[in-house]
Amino acid sequence: MDTQSLWQIVLADLELQISKAVFKTFISQTKLLEINDQEVVIGCNQPMMINLIEKRYYPLIKKVLDGYTKKDNRLVFKAIPSQMKKNFDGPLFQIKPSENLSSSQIRLNPEYTFENFAVSSSNQMAYAAATAVAKTPGSSYNPLFLYGGVGVGKTHLMQAIGHVIIKNKPQAKLIYCTGEEFTNEIIEAIGNKITVAFKKKYRRVNILLIDDVQFLAGKNAVQEEFFHTFNAIQQSGGQIILTSDKPPEEINKLEERLRSRFEGGLTIDIGPPDFELRCAILLIKTKQRGVELPLDLVKLLSANIENPRKIEGVFIRVLTESQIKGVPIDSELIKNILGKSIKEAPPKERVKPEEAINTVASYFNLKLSQIKGNRRDRSYARPRQIIYYLLRSEMNIPLVEIGNLLGGRDHTTIIHGVRKIAQLLSTDEGTRTDIMGIKNKLFG
Ligand code: ADP
Ligand code: MG
Repeated sequence: MDTQSLWQIVLADLELQISKAVFKTFISQTKLLEINDQEVVIGCNQPMMINLIEKRYYPLIKKVLDGYTKKDNRLVFKAIPSQMKKNFDGPLFQIKPSENLSSSQIRLNPEYTFENFAVSSSNQMAYAAATAVAKTPGSSYNPLFLYGGVGVGKTHLMQAIGHVIIKNKPQAKLIYCTGEEFTNEIIEAIGNKITVAFKKKYRRVNILLIDDVQFLAGKNAVQEEFFHTFNAIQQSGGQIILTSDKPPEEINKLEERLRSRFEGGLTIDIGPPDFELRCAILLIKTKQRGVELPLDLVKLLSANIENPRKIEGVFIRVLTESQIKGVPIDSELIKNILGKSIKEAPPKERVKPEEAINTVASYFNLKLSQIKGNRRDRSYARPRQIIYYLLRSEMNIPLVEIGNLLGGRDHTTIIHGVRKIAQLLSTDEGTRTDIMGIKNKLFG
């Protein structure tokens, strides 16, 4: 295969694994310039993005490329000089995660940037929406309402939007506070009879970030004030971003008019991070601390701790214990700290592709020859597509290998099938039930 066709397949494969917006912005503009024994040289049209692509997508690109070339590649990213544009007005993420004075004045964590945010299937929608809002606040999704469990990155993503907006428009009035702080401030203002000052402060802002807004529920005076604040900001073209542990319809004791305001924008959930995402998050955290944690240890920690916030906590404990006790950071130390039962790797990595094919065949009462055969009736084609989807999206099997496993099918057929199922998953209850049933059988 020549380098161009190889890269085209790699790109097609990557496109299935990351959000459309991310793919279009960052990945689609890369080229494979050279491949030799030492390294694979990847060219970027937009040199400012090299840092970001390398930081965030190196492992993914490498994994896909290694899968096709069957070797352990070292990737090098280079600018393509002839195509450098003078009037580059590309994405917003060229900002170094630096100590921005005005950011820290409004209490944004300098490390909660888009650059430091890893994207995977559980959060790619939220990421795409957040980047869109950061780019054109007040016009795309208003309010942006992000919800999800503890530690899934709601605060991080919300603050990342804040950083970008402040960087782009330093004069913008931005307030970040938690629902609890907002509540306390109102109560205090009412107590001290200074509600006018409160109103002035909040209703004039351009960007309001309220973190854990569920805290306002059940507090009537607070909700009343928030309702008017919300309206004032929205009417003057400002952007509101909210996070919560639940979607608006599930927040108890939330006034109806607020609920309908919240639902009037874009509501997106962030799911719990899968194993790969937890690894990526931990890698970001280790890099920030200037620590090189070997990949097998990153995997060990990520396999055993579900919550990113806890992973970071345990990682810090590992660092501290190794310093205090003067022992190396190795799997023994980590296992000691984790205690009890240790999982080595997530179970789905151990399932063989053939098992997945057999499971799907038996789920739909089909013979293997029917699955691998060429009949195109829906009753054969759909199960086949489900197999493509499981092998590609859940088990990370390269496209070409999937084609081979199913009797020599072309990679474009596989891509089409994976897309079809991904789309059905968001619209069709039946497909969701099938996939869930099959995954339960397969991964337990
Ligand atoms: P939440 O507000 O949803 O409870 P946080 O935003 O506080 O969660 O995230 C908890 C920790 O995990 C933070 O240190 C955050 O930087 C990190 N984290 C969570 N998701 C990601 C991600 N996708 N990429 C990088 N770091 C993440
Ligand atoms: Mg939070």
